[in-house]
Amino acid sequence: AGTTARPQAEAVIDLDSVAHNVRVLAARAGAAGVMAVVKADGYNHGAVPVARAALEAGATELGVATVREGLALRAAGVDAPVLCWLHAPGADFRAAIEAGVEIGVSTPRQIAAVAEAARTAGRRATVSVKFDTGMNRGGLAPDVVDEALDLLAHERGVLDVRGAFSHLVAADDPEDPVTDLQKRRFDAAVDAMTRAGVAPRVRHLANSAATLLRPDLAYDLVRPGIAVYGLSPAPDLGSFDLRPVMTLRATVVLLKNVPAGGGVGYGHQWIAPRDTVVALVPLGYADGVVRGLTGRYEVAVRGRRHPAVGRVSMDQVVIDVGPDGDVEVGDDAYFFGPGDHDEPSAQDWAELLDTINYEVVTGVRGRVERTYR
Ligand code: PLP
Repeated sequence: AGTTARPQAEAVIDLDSVAHNVRVLAARAGAAGVMAVVKADGYNHGAVPVARAALEAGATELGVATVREGLALRAAGVDAPVLCWLHAPGADFRAAIEAGVEIGVSTPRQIAAVAEAARTAGRRATVSVKFDTGMNRGGLAPDVVDEALDLLAHERGVLDVRGAFSHLVAADDPEDPVTDLQKRRFDAAVDAMTRAGVAPRVRHLANSAATLLRPDLAYDLVRPGIAVYGLSPAPDLGSFDLRPVMTLRATVVLLKNVPAGGGVGYGHQWIAPRDTVVALVPLGYADGVVRGLTGRYEVAVRGRRHPAVGRVSMDQVVIDVGPDGDVEVGDDAYFFGPGDHDEPSAQDWAELLDTINYEVVTGVRGRVERTYR
């Protein structure tokens, strides 16, 4: 299906930048391996192409949230180790085991379900234990650790207990003492596994922020997500030589003259203060240019930033290119990206919207086509 014409709105994904970022992270990780996190369809960059680029650049494993995400990688022919760690009751552990997808377990109930699925599949399951060391969200709660470790030891016949991991609460804030507290709790959990006879062969704790800021927490693997996509988890601390991977671009559809005093768009939220030229660009809130950006952002065309004016609508936005604006129909309008065309960054958008860059890139949707280079 589809057409070979250039999309009128696209998220351009630069896989060379993925490779560059993975090399930056691997250098930080030292002797530790890199598990590239490609959940949520690769933070909306495309899990399969990102996984391939990351593995080629030296990542050793992949991490996803759900069994289905792990199976999708396998279905696309990705055969590297994959770990998934977020399971509702009814998750298809048997399919994961048959596909050789490692299962992260957070409760005794999940351990029992994986052991049962392994018996049904007639194959040992590879599991890692996710410990709650302070997030009070996912992970094995302290009050059920003993029960869980007993169960793992008891089910060793069908469970290969490969790893131990945990997730950090505030690694993006180097001042927050919770990170060191989590490290101590994690080390204690690993010791408890060893005492229970299910010593882990791989330990991992570091998300992007810890990979970049705390090389002492690299253990056997680091587990970065956002930094693979070139965005900083700790924007105040610089870019760490990462390259943003996604560029959001659309094509100028039409130009028109608006006289001084002319209102633009719904509710005439913007009134032209002088005779001017406006350009229509086909990206709107249905595509992830959230309406809360109205009146607060700029779009780059031909290396110059122009204010977007009037309300963001469902399919389109309007930019004020000025009375002698050097803009033509068919020009590329850049919304955010690495800055190659003087466009703002995803981080700039995050600040405008009082959110994080993660939500900006995962929020691109609708008719935006992903293209790769
Ligand atoms: N590990 C786990 C368990 C996660 O849930 C995530 C994502 O939130 C990551 C690693 C990657 O985190 P980040 O994108 O901050 O590097």
